Amino acid sequence: MIGLNTIQEARRRIASHVLLTPLVPSHTLSEIAGVPVSLKLEHHQKTGSFKLRGATNALLQLSEAERTRGVVTVSTGNHGRGLAHVARAIGSRATICMSRLVPENKVLEIRRLGGDIRIVGQSQDDALAEAERLADEHGLVMLSPFDNPEIVAGQGTVGLEVVDAMPDVATLIVPLSGGGLAAGVAAAVKGLRPNAKVIGVTMELGAAMKASLNAGHPVQVEEWPSLADSLGGGIGLRNTLTFPMCQSLLDDVVLLSESEIAAGIRHAYEQEREILEGAGAVGIGALLARKIPELKGPVALVLSGRNIDVELHRRVVNGENDPFKEPTNGKTESSDRARVKEHHSTRRRGGAMR
Ligand SMILES: *Cc1c(COP(=O)(O)O)cnc(C)c1O
Repeated sequence: MIGLNTIQEARRRIASHVLLTPLVPSHTLSEIAGVPVSLKLEHHQKTGSFKLRGATNALLQLSEAERTRGVVTVSTGNHGRGLAHVARAIGSRATICMSRLVPENKVLEIRRLGGDIRIVGQSQDDALAEAERLADEHGLVMLSPFDNPEIVAGQGTVGLEVVDAMPDVATLIVPLSGGGLAAGVAAAVKGLRPNAKVIGVTMELGAAMKASLNAGHPVQVEEWPSLADSLGGGIGLRNTLTFPMCQSLLDDVVLLSESEIAAGIRHAYEQEREILEGAGAVGIGALLARKIPELKGPVALVLSGRNIDVELHRRVVNGENDPFKEPTNGKTESSDRARVKEHHSTRRRGGAMR
């Protein structure tokens, strides 16, 4: 388990590399929930998500030799972005392995952030095999997006900032997938405020952590395309850290339907004037759907990311029923459709989108 001290050390370590994001009251959500609700604007973090915190904490602890050789991952999502960004900032290298199926826009984004890209094979399995080969042959450090103590400690710094800004916080609402964010935040907040409640929110479709908590051990679940693509992927059958931490620290896990996630994205845009990806909007969706019984205030709600395809965002805000549907403008394959396919075909290896 990761404790408060480790998270406080992580905060000092990463302070000059990440933004301290604001916690702002939401009048509309406070009215809807009947208790004061504030939003932790972590989607304004550099690279558009909190993943930068864990990635920075991990990279800063590499030995000189490891830093020179660099790190490797298969994530083409927010973890990959965070690693690429911080590797460049500290003079290390992040290699992101991906299959030929990954859409061009994601390749360009990671390249723009300075990542070394290896495109191999036709599936995420091929990409993972290449990453393992590079780790073995060239001594690159393989970094999980969540099941790693340095990653968890880095993500936990979000919780320290929340308690600083809201010392009487009663409930924290956090998006949940592999559990790096939820475990770190819960350890930080409960270390300082043992009576505070921490509630994880995820999607109904393929909720691996929820199924694992129910089973009492890590399990695999069938996975589906979701608006909350950053929450996709398993928790790893050999999960050693985030599963036990979520088991002992989370007070509840709430599941949302796709239309409840869409409502969260829409509310964020129309009422809060914030652009969120699906994973970033699940906390708002949970409040709107009144899924959290006996909610105690004040509430802090983490908005975890904003990296959504702009066309997909437009369709969700316009209230289209099936936001994954092709627009009828004769284009072949929209990037988010390709993205969802990639997601779907590769998910079981876990973490590709995170
Ligand atoms: C990765 C991610 C999550 C989930 O974090 P875990 O540590 O895997 O639980 C939530 N929101 C966004 C935007 C993410 O990128």
